[in-house]
Amino acid sequence: MKTLGTLGEREAIRVIDRIVKSDVPVGIGDDCAAMDIGDKYLLVTTDMMVTKTHIPKGMGPYDIGWSLVAVNLSDIAAMGGRPLGVVTAIGITKGHPIDFLEQMVDGMNDCALRFGTSIVGGDTKEHEDLILCGTAVGEVDKDKILLRKGARPGDLIVVTGCLGRAGSGFFSLKRGLSLKEAEDQLKRPWPRIKEGMVLGSSGCVTSCMDISDGLSASIFELSRNSGLTHEIDYALIPKASEVCLAFQDAERQKDLVLNFGDDFELLFTMKREREADLAALSEQVGCPLTVIGKVTSGEENILIDNGRREKLENLGYEHFRIRKA
Ligand SMILES: [Mg+2]
Repeated sequence: MKTLGTLGEREAIRVIDRIVKSDVPVGIGDDCAAMDIGDKYLLVTTDMMVTKTHIPKGMGPYDIGWSLVAVNLSDIAAMGGRPLGVVTAIGITKGHPIDFLEQMVDGMNDCALRFGTSIVGGDTKEHEDLILCGTAVGEVDKDKILLRKGARPGDLIVVTGCLGRAGSGFFSLKRGLSLKEAEDQLKRPWPRIKEGMVLGSSGCVTSCMDISDGLSASIFELSRNSGLTHEIDYALIPKASEVCLAFQDAERQKDLVLNFGDDFELLFTMKREREADLAALSEQVGCPLTVIGKVTSGEENILIDNGRREKLENLGYEHFRIRKA
């Protein structure tokens, strides 16, 4: 019997996509769904957190609440959207202290307010384990929406911020390395709302998504959506300073930067002729924007490492399949 374990999350989503019928402008398969509401699109996204797979030890209730809202807002950011509201559903045991609930909701509330929105509703149920579901709603002008598809050959591949910090935080918590900033990044992700809106308005971005499951998985996702191959240079990728503190071994460092995820940076492609605008855009959002490669029309996605060209492996995090070790 075929199980979800043999399919993996991405294929499972394709199964669902084959069944459901909808004619919205953007449906399953992008960071948010987009619905036509006149001169704008309404954006909707939902994301779950389950104790076993999403909540590393060391994350307190405040962090859990913050994270739930942040990961949902990150999907609104990936579409260039402005958040309008968040609802959260909470499955929780009757044994949880009231304090826990209060701190968790504090985290949700603070994150929503920090990014210009609020918690506008939700649901609470008794459950055998802590399980949370957030839903964020946003809006975007029709001509400013950022999609996973749209890249063209020659476009530059760009990333916000740096990669590997959340992953370093994960291993820091696991092994007691006390990499405080990295642990904070893992516990309280920072959705790139402002960055997404500025990029959407810039008119130079051709495709975009947030890096929730790792850079390699995101590159494959953009590549699948555009039908084009992507080529990235490992040396160009901005790496968090903690990566080399989390691991001495260069291969483990590389794995962390390429495959771990949870950084919630934006990965986008942009018109090559607009490269000179990057510095001004970066200044405007107060966040580094770094070119890490280009869109090509080759046979496969390529990683250039020390001048050597190799096939980029899609080793990002995928539910039902692999577990972060
Ligand atoms: Mg996403």
